[in-house]
Amino acid sequence: MRFEPTMKQAVIRRTARKYAEEVLAPAAVEMDRTGQFPQDIADEMAELKYFGLEIPPEYGGAGLDPVSYAIVVEEISRANAAMGLCVAVHNGVAAAPMYEFGNQFQRKKFLVPVATGKKIGTFCLSEPNAGSDASAIETTAVRDNKDYILNGNKVFVTNGHVSGTNLIFANTRPGEKKKEYTVFFVESEREGVEKGPLEELMGMRGNPVCPITLHDCRVPEENLLGEQGQGLKIAFATLNGGRIGIAAQALGIAQACLDVSLRYAKERHQFGRSIAQFGAIQKHLADMATQVEAARLLVYRAAGLRDKGLEYGMESAMAKLYASKIAVDAARIGIQIHGAYGYSKSYPIERYYRDAKITEIYEGTSEVQRIVIARSLMER
Ligand SMILES: Cc1cc2nc3c(=O)[nH]c(=O)nc-3n(C[C@H](O)[C@H](O)[C@H](O)COP(=O)(O)OP(=O)(O)OC[C@H]3O[C@@H](n4cnc5c(N)ncnc54)[C@H](O)[C@@H]3O)c2cc1C
Repeated sequence: MRFEPTMKQAVIRRTARKYAEEVLAPAAVEMDRTGQFPQDIADEMAELKYFGLEIPPEYGGAGLDPVSYAIVVEEISRANAAMGLCVAVHNGVAAAPMYEFGNQFQRKKFLVPVATGKKIGTFCLSEPNAGSDASAIETTAVRDNKDYILNGNKVFVTNGHVSGTNLIFANTRPGEKKKEYTVFFVESEREGVEKGPLEELMGMRGNPVCPITLHDCRVPEENLLGEQGQGLKIAFATLNGGRIGIAAQALGIAQACLDVSLRYAKERHQFGRSIAQFGAIQKHLADMATQVEAARLLVYRAAGLRDKGLEYGMESAMAKLYASKIAVDAARIGIQIHGAYGYSKSYPIERYYRDAKITEIYEGTSEVQRIVIARSLMER
């Protein structure tokens, strides 16, 4: 059992950290304030292959192993959680299924522009009446000769406003008692695709999350990913992998909370000494540091199993459940350590608190992760 990164993984972390600290951290403040996505930075990240992290080089990606992928998402999120979300969703639940389930034609046509960052990818499952219950989706895809005609509303689409290629989940047996779920590549420029206004979010504000509506949107049968009827299988397999990315994102936020809280505790003086010298503050810092390390091991373990081609659904759910919880806890305690200054926008811990919360909700809420874990326990 290895607990240390390989030389290559250590270099990948150093490189990602340098870029994140120099470019992404300064941009995070402005993204949070304005809610604007910095396309120029995304273009630069595309050059650095951040949009095809695990995709093999023959399709334009960086061909990283899953642990290295988690390390990169962690480092980006430590500096800029909204950009971490962009990268985690684009790679984890858009590019990954395009590679895993796409045929050769689709890999060339759709995956290559996504893996090279020329087109941003999305994963459109959630709808107004379908959140945790993916089987409740109401978007329909009706066959018309060699095409399908799609109608429906997708909500909370991460990267939505800047997307080029969307994975849309739809019911291919509308009107029938038994639904059938199928995934389609839908290009943003296709007639019948309408993007709604940006969501005014509590955190992750620089990510262009928005609804996407399909009005009689005609797509050719070559845009069907996998096989007709495989939609939920693709969704669940994709989310198993995607959760490693969200867990890594939560880990990065938790690490950032620890970093700034430790620094502040050493700098802030009360009663003639630094607050870091008080036992109560040391307990907070010690608990935070222990939880961050525990989360890191869970994230890398899930990623390591994926790397070896072993089952990792339960482990990725555990990693997401735990890392998201400790990220929220670390942000809350971090604000406590900062006192009133933590409640002000002058310090980043306030943003981390708002960014952390959503990691307990998207790609399956904590309640849903517990269901996944309990089900796996009973099946094993
Ligand atoms: C910033 C952001 C980005 C997002 N990005 C995407 C995206 O890119 N693509 C996408 O498809 N979706 C996305 N979502 C949507 C997200 O995945 C859903 O919000 C999430 O799956 C939960 O669905 P819901 O909000 O409808 O909650 P609901 O399913 O309505 O749940 C409400 C509450 O009930 C609980 N609950 C529900 N069912 C059960 C159960 N069986 N047992 C116990 N408790 C239960 C939940 O845990 C939760 O506490 C995003 C959301 C946000 C806010």
